Amino acid sequence: MHFKYQNKMDKENIFKTELIGTHKSNKARVLQVTTPHGIFHTPSFMPVGTRAAVNCMTTTNLEESGAQIILGGNTYHMLCAPGLETIKLAGGMHKFMAWNKPMLIDSGGFQIFSLSKNSKICKIDETGGKFKHPNTGQVIHLTPESSIIAQKIMGADIVMAFDQCTADTEDKDFVNKAMTRTHRWLKQSLNLHLQNPNSEYGLKQAFFGIIQGGFYEELRKESAEFIVSLNTDGIAIGGESIGFDMDKTMQILQWIEPILPSNKVRYTMGVGLTPQNLLDVVQMGVDIFDCVAPTRNARHGSLYSGEIKKVNNWLKFESEFPNGKMNLNNASHANDMRPIMETCQCYTCKNFSRAYMRYLLKSESLLYYNLASIHNIQVMQDVCKKMRQFIIEN
Ligand SMILES: [Zn+2]
Repeated sequence: MHFKYQNKMDKENIFKTELIGTHKSNKARVLQVTTPHGIFHTPSFMPVGTRAAVNCMTTTNLEESGAQIILGGNTYHMLCAPGLETIKLAGGMHKFMAWNKPMLIDSGGFQIFSLSKNSKICKIDETGGKFKHPNTGQVIHLTPESSIIAQKIMGADIVMAFDQCTADTEDKDFVNKAMTRTHRWLKQSLNLHLQNPNSEYGLKQAFFGIIQGGFYEELRKESAEFIVSLNTDGIAIGGESIGFDMDKTMQILQWIEPILPSNKVRYTMGVGLTPQNLLDVVQMGVDIFDCVAPTRNARHGSLYSGEIKKVNNWLKFESEFPNGKMNLNNASHANDMRPIMETCQCYTCKNFSRAYMRYLLKSESLLYYNLASIHNIQVMQDVCKKMRQFIIEN
């Protein structure tokens, strides 16, 4: 049976999630998600444009890769520069960065966590995070409410609750306190959002809550149950280890997946160090994910290369290289006239050899960064496309 995506050109001012299909023996599923900026289908990898740009990629490059939704900015970074006034004048993030498809933005919760490792830069208390502007030194107070107000001005289709992330090294008591605070903040964020669930520009915004609880089974389950009990449009799974430590990520998913409702989008924040990581979380029932690694890896000469194969009724990214990543710094590629990945249809693989890409990298050609990023993002999108086809066919 051929699976036909619903192709609507006229955009509706709604956020709607429909279950299109599920895999028969694992938890993978295909959702059709309608947003004011169009439809996307899961599983879907979101390239990350933390500072209103996906590094070394134009939005045309992103569209050509098959990206359906991007993480188009982070509240903390946008507050620092260019500031909300500029974004409001532009008419929101979509217009500012010329991306006319679905977009998610981050609340700044993760940044107050990472910046507060240095208490001179950021301090967290019950009200939120107070941090110093990196250039002016001015103190910016990010709270559950001010984060939502900022996200309404940024105008993405999906906005995130303001949360307090915790390090895996923290003890259970500390993680419990941060989780309980995250739940209080979630209610504050959600209450403000529900007063007017539209952006500054009148378009419907979906609101996602974030499950925390570190690496403690009891806390993760408690947090999942709390988030599920609230009226959110989607559910995110956050924490320092998510995506960074895949064994812990998979364990956390095993604990909480049975609690999650089937009719809401599930988002693991920060998953996607390698193509295989996407295949792993999707079979645990995850729908969307983002990671800076594909473009960052690309810039450092680490390019995905392998084949997406059917193994045990699911898919596997098989590669001759460790973690599916070819290291172009390696001299063995110097005279290799094959493309980076034989089956890849990206602009880079259709036109250039490993030898040429290695030469560009070693000579620090600026062109290298664009070509390498195009390829790595394409591989992540191709893995998602293969998963969507495979789930529907099975
Ligand atoms: Zn390619």
